[in-house]
Amino acid sequence: METVVSGIRSTGKLHLGNYYGAIHNFVKMQEKYNCYFFIADLHSLTTHPHPDNLHQNVKDILVEYLAAGLDPEKCTLYVQSDVPQIAELYLFLNMNAYLGELERSASFKDKVRMHPENVNAGLLTYPVLMAGDILIHKATKVPVGKDQEQHLEMTRTFSNRFNRIYNVDYFPEAYAFSFSDKLVKVPGLDGNGKMGKSNGGANAIYLSDTPEIIRKKVMRAVTDGGPSEENSSKPEPIQNLFQLISLVSSKDTYDYFNHLYNTCQIRYGDLKKQLAEDMIIATTPLREKIIDIASDKDYLHKVARMGADKARESADRTIKDVKEIIGFRQI
Ligand code: AMP
Repeated sequence: METVVSGIRSTGKLHLGNYYGAIHNFVKMQEKYNCYFFIADLHSLTTHPHPDNLHQNVKDILVEYLAAGLDPEKCTLYVQSDVPQIAELYLFLNMNAYLGELERSASFKDKVRMHPENVNAGLLTYPVLMAGDILIHKATKVPVGKDQEQHLEMTRTFSNRFNRIYNVDYFPEAYAFSFSDKLVKVPGLDGNGKMGKSNGGANAIYLSDTPEIIRKKVMRAVTDGGPSEENSSKPEPIQNLFQLISLVSSKDTYDYFNHLYNTCQIRYGDLKKQLAEDMIIATTPLREKIIDIASDKDYLHKVARMGADKARESADRTIKDVKEIIGFRQI
């Protein structure tokens, strides 16, 4: 069975874009592959979080992924810093990662531009830590978006270089993996592009949003003056609302509002009211699970320990092999 590794950002609540775009696939992947999903708290140190935030963020993210359907019995779900072997492999890989290639990374250049006051070595070697995350389980499949393709290419450079230096065929090549051929892109509420964390949270519906918040956000979604000609094409803000309806409402509801639009009888207030109620129906079970799981400290502790044990077992095998290959032997 092929091994999949995916990192999960350790900050930020999950929104419907994350849920339909990424987690749905994770939930299906865990049935078919040997999946390692980890909360990337070491990576988050590049931006220097406060100790309390770091802990709370990791816990919140773990709770939300469990509520969204990751099953700790089917996949290995763990916190990155619980597996020190990752940091050990990162150290070994750093010895053969060169300044020039790290400086050329597009995401490093972006971060330098955005935060010139915080260009730390962790930021520079971020792709090496990512390679450590993947290679520690000898994974071949990494579900990442286009923006991470360059990092994956660096992972292949580091693994091939390791194999060449030590004249072994140890690390496999890892490639970007798109589980489903149908890429779901969930639009946001601000009439412009995909759902995301921008706009102070008003653009996204979070899994933990209460019905009142959902109604408020949806009613404020951007629309226009309405169509003036029958069967005209929909401008982006309207297209986005229809796309959201197709995600959370029934086909009948979609067809009903589509007919009203095509015959110039649409009232956006009615459409938004329906969309808000259907979003509430879609998210309420998730929100309730989030509240339930967050209050069950014993369960969370058990899940985190179980994930750490399973991940360490796999990581330990790799580190033993790697040390042997490099030439560390007991005296
Ligand atoms: P982020 O919250 O930006 O770290 O996103 C994590 C992952 O969620 C991304 O790699 C995407 O797979 C997915 N994702 C985020 N926003 C959307 C969206 N609006 N539509 C579809 N997928 C999304």
